[in-house]
Amino acid sequence: MRLTVLISRGVAGATAAALLVSMLGLAIIAAIGLPERPTDPVSVSGVTAARLVPPLPAPWPLSLAEHAARTVEGEFHRGDTFASVLRSAGVSATLIDQLARAVQPDFNVKRIRSGRPYKIYFAAHDELLLFRYQPDRQRAILVAEGRRGWGATEIVVPYDIRPRFIHAVIRGSLEGALAATWMGRSDAIRLSHKLAGIFAWDIDFAADLRVNDTVDVVVEQRFLEGGFVGFGDVLAAELRIAGRTYNAVRYVRPGTAIAYFTPTGESLQRAFLRSPVDFTRISSRFSYRRMHPVLNVVRAHRGVDYVAPAGTPVHATATGTVTYVGRNAQAGNHVKIRHGGSYTSWYLHLSRPADGLEVGDKVEQGEVLGYVGRTGLATSNHLHYQLEQGGTFVDPLSIDFPANAPLPSEQMAEFALQRGVWISRLREGQIERPVVLAGSGE
Ligand SMILES: [Zn+2]
Repeated sequence: MRLTVLISRGVAGATAAALLVSMLGLAIIAAIGLPERPTDPVSVSGVTAARLVPPLPAPWPLSLAEHAARTVEGEFHRGDTFASVLRSAGVSATLIDQLARAVQPDFNVKRIRSGRPYKIYFAAHDELLLFRYQPDRQRAILVAEGRRGWGATEIVVPYDIRPRFIHAVIRGSLEGALAATWMGRSDAIRLSHKLAGIFAWDIDFAADLRVNDTVDVVVEQRFLEGGFVGFGDVLAAELRIAGRTYNAVRYVRPGTAIAYFTPTGESLQRAFLRSPVDFTRISSRFSYRRMHPVLNVVRAHRGVDYVAPAGTPVHATATGTVTYVGRNAQAGNHVKIRHGGSYTSWYLHLSRPADGLEVGDKVEQGEVLGYVGRTGLATSNHLHYQLEQGGTFVDPLSIDFPANAPLPSEQMAEFALQRGVWISRLREGQIERPVVLAGSGE
């Protein structure tokens, strides 16, 4: 359906979702041609919209509003009814009766609440075009005449999206730095969670931050009825953390979830290697109950045992930082690697760790950490590999790791367009300049 296609390539994932028109009963939108009318860009005084590509047309019946010669708007007060409001706006009693019957299946006019706004649109000869009522900020009910006569349609009111640039300097925590800008504490917490998620594979915000590190972000602000209702997506970010620069750009791909990439199109999500060792077989899988071969008691096995000859190299399953190299009675020689903020991988029963491996070392994916052995509580040569996510062990064989494929070349042009806008916004430090970033216009 043409409308959906147009909308799914819209301004932003969130906006696109919000724009999706939910029909109460009349399947009329598909049948009506879309007028070629620009949507109103977010209007901020003194600045003009950057039109990159033709903007999104408003869906029917919202599009009727532009043909209005006269409008009447107000709020329902105590004692007002659908009929009384239409009557005082000049609609004939006959038409009101007709409307009341036609909308009944989809719009219970008896449930109109006082204090909520309405707007009535009339055409040139005072014919009724459109009645709009908002039961709440996020929904609107539209009464209009479609091919099958009058009817009511409910739509999700699209957010007004205003990109905003934020510059924050670390004094302690990330959320503390954000809260020291104009935003409130709860918004700072939400935004810091968004950033932690985007950079989860690269930055451990609890451990890596230094005083005077900087955070530059362009983020969507969502407005309804003129009021700020929260942040949408992070559009671009540049973080200077502990002497390194990290970049992320949001990319909206038609038909898929949004994703974050570096400016050169590399995914920010890293994949783990499926296994850390060239093994001959798996002798024990992740399980909450298994008979322990040495202790002879039932206990959970929170990892995977890979059988391999003594001395087989063991590889880091993802890029990270060494957090432990040492030995104890149960695990024998073992190594732990922290990957970003949420994952830690463990490598147990090694014959020995790699030469010179120390806590704090950065290791690349695939780098040799040590060699298979049977130190600690082990009956034969094997690697016990386990993966901790946010403090709990997860099954490395069943966890759905995010893909880290770079963008395919055919998507680079579209990505470059989106990237150009948000990176330039970061560079300029522009505040609230509206942008219309619509479909690719193919
Ligand atoms: Zn094991």
